[in-house]
Amino acid sequence: MSNFFGRRAVVVGGGIGGLSAAGALAPYFEQVDVLERDRLAAYAESRPGTAQDRHTHGLLAGGLKALGEIFPGFERDLAEAGAVSVGVAQDIRYERADVGALPRRDFGLSILCASRPFIEFVLRRRAMAVANIALRAGCRVTEIVPAHEAAHGVRFDSGSGPSETLEADLVVDASGRGATTLELLDTLGWERPQVTEIGIDLTYTTAVVRIPADAMPDWKLVITLPNPPALGLYAVLVPLEGGRWIVTIADRGSIPRLDNWGSFHAALPQLLTPTIYDALRRAEPLDGIRHYGFPASVWRHFERLPRLPRGALPIADALCRFNPIYGQGMSAAAKQARLLQTVLGLAAAEPDPLLAAQAGFMAGVEAVLQTPWSMSTSADLAFPDTRGERPEDFEKSRQFEAALFRAVVADPVVHRAMIEVGQLLQPHDLLHEPHIKERIDAVSAKAFA
Ligand SMILES: Cc1cc2nc3c(=O)[nH]c(=O)nc-3n(C[C@H](O)[C@H](O)[C@H](O)COP(=O)(O)OP(=O)(O)OC[C@H]3O[C@@H](n4cnc5c(N)ncnc54)[C@H](O)[C@@H]3O)c2cc1C
Repeated sequence: MSNFFGRRAVVVGGGIGGLSAAGALAPYFEQVDVLERDRLAAYAESRPGTAQDRHTHGLLAGGLKALGEIFPGFERDLAEAGAVSVGVAQDIRYERADVGALPRRDFGLSILCASRPFIEFVLRRRAMAVANIALRAGCRVTEIVPAHEAAHGVRFDSGSGPSETLEADLVVDASGRGATTLELLDTLGWERPQVTEIGIDLTYTTAVVRIPADAMPDWKLVITLPNPPALGLYAVLVPLEGGRWIVTIADRGSIPRLDNWGSFHAALPQLLTPTIYDALRRAEPLDGIRHYGFPASVWRHFERLPRLPRGALPIADALCRFNPIYGQGMSAAAKQARLLQTVLGLAAAEPDPLLAAQAGFMAGVEAVLQTPWSMSTSADLAFPDTRGERPEDFEKSRQFEAALFRAVVADPVVHRAMIEVGQLLQPHDLLHEPHIKERIDAVSAKAFA
């Protein structure tokens, strides 16, 4: 083990972002302590600190890849534990208003589907197997301790006795909201980062059902998109470990609250297509109906600050929270942790490795966030009631999307490119590269000839 950066790194929060970051930090610090405020079970279980975990959580191929780079063999672990393999495009029924259901092509690419507690549990098991990572459950961080323009460690409560202090060379804030990092900036008298907010006021309603014994669909996963501005309802059906489906309806205030299975099922015919309604005709929910309100996508631009306090690093949702319907948050978190791993490796040879790693992370993180952010916010801005600034070229980008999906249907090369971008394996710019753009233009030219 190399110890280029200091004796201890502390990670605030043991969610997907925190556990991935711990894996990235472990080779470079003597000790990595993950402080998680929740008590943690020795099995996959929903918990209060991740109130979103009863809702559909898709891990994209780009996130799975990043997790496998941090914890080699992670994909195998997840599959062996019981996650369901789904071929991207091949096994997914992806329904749009403009072009209908996308063709089902085999691109040799698959994802693994499971519940959020299950994915986190498999990841936690991997992190805990690393000798110098300690996961300290039941420890709520109350403050990043400041010292001369730096983070000196954290203060935390463990429920018994007075608060304790843990000194650290690096504090990674993976608490989901970034509150402790923002308070550190306030304490030091430094400016807070600018914030970009796209207001969507989305309501998530989720049910989990056993897959009916006689269900024999020719798909494994369904995505039924809305049709802005007329139809705001969106739904997704995803297979889970244990022979179950998780189904989420996302709404922008167009329907009343769905409080029971009867009203949930009755709302499904309002979707763009009857696919999910038909699939659930004979299904019974295993659990209650769950709700989650998501007001806005939020990007706190820590990367635009002239510098960060030495030893402080926000990551994952603490930096940027995406509209969940696009399934990007865990994957973006894992990709940021992978970036951290890369910059730690590069910074080790620098005269001040810690500062170099912080600067390297902040220089690279915008590129990691830009693709998921622009894809999700541009789709959201198609609804006139979405709050937030529309980019100057917004109309052009909507036209581009329409042309892109015409070409996805007609041309497997464009389809593959769209899949790779959507799965966060490639940057969004790929779609504008000449070899793809020409194919998109050719399909549009034919359509309007
Ligand atoms: C309804 C909904 C659906 C979603 N669906 C998807 C999806 O399909 N696919 C996807 O990839 N992402 C999805 N996401 C996003 C995803 O949950 C997060 O982006 C992802 O989990 C990364 O989050 P994180 O680790 O930064 O924060 P979180 O997962 O929120 O974890 C933060 C952790 O920090 C702990 N914590 C907080 N404060 C403290 C403190 N002071 N001290 C100690 N511990 C603390 C919390 O208990 C928690 O364990 C969804 C989100 C929502 C809200």
